[in-house]
Amino acid sequence: MNVPEVDEKEVSHPHDARPTEHVECPSCEKVCHEVNHLPAPSLPFADKRVFNETRRMDAGSFTVVNRYFPGKLDEHNIPVPVYVKLQCMHCQDPACASACITGALTKKENGAVYYDVSLCIGCRYCMVACPFEVPAYEYSEPLMPRVRKCTFCYERITRDGRLPACADTQE
Ligand code: SF4
Ligand code: SF4
Repeated sequence: MNVPEVDEKEVSHPHDARPTEHVECPSCEKVCHEVNHLPAPSLPFADKRVFNETRRMDAGSFTVVNRYFPGKLDEHNIPVPVYVKLQCMHCQDPACASACITGALTKKENGAVYYDVSLCIGCRYCMVACPFEVPAYEYSEPLMPRVRKCTFCYERITRDGRLPACADTQE
């Protein structure tokens, strides 16, 4: 994966300009799990071993933060990490919604690409269409499997006028 050029002296996390040693990330993953009632991960959120592998979203994780070393060194010759948060990008022209034949995925006025499970027939065309391989499927649910992805905290921001929960943690 290509990592965007950033000034690592200033930015240690896409949402946080504090020095790396002060960052208690991935707190955005933790709060996402809490508000969406997602299953606990195999490692605690504060366990830095999660960065030893490159992860993807799945039916139980709507966002993940990965660590990369693009090659820059600090003044002590130590590789400088860059952290990249993956999630649904709520595209302006979402391919997932274009492929959805039932209207279960729609682009809302506030920018969210919203999923209505009551309209979903489980065809999974959205999973094929998304260029970022974001939508996941509940293959382990035999009766009522759902497509799963970041919701943009749609109810939270429309009903309560709040920010998405992951953005709230950065305040
Ligand atoms: S699921 Fe994929 S195509 Fe759809 S809005 Fe998210 S990133 Fe874009
Ligand atoms: S799986 Fe559901 S959300 Fe995805 S394209 Fe099919 S009907 Fe639409």
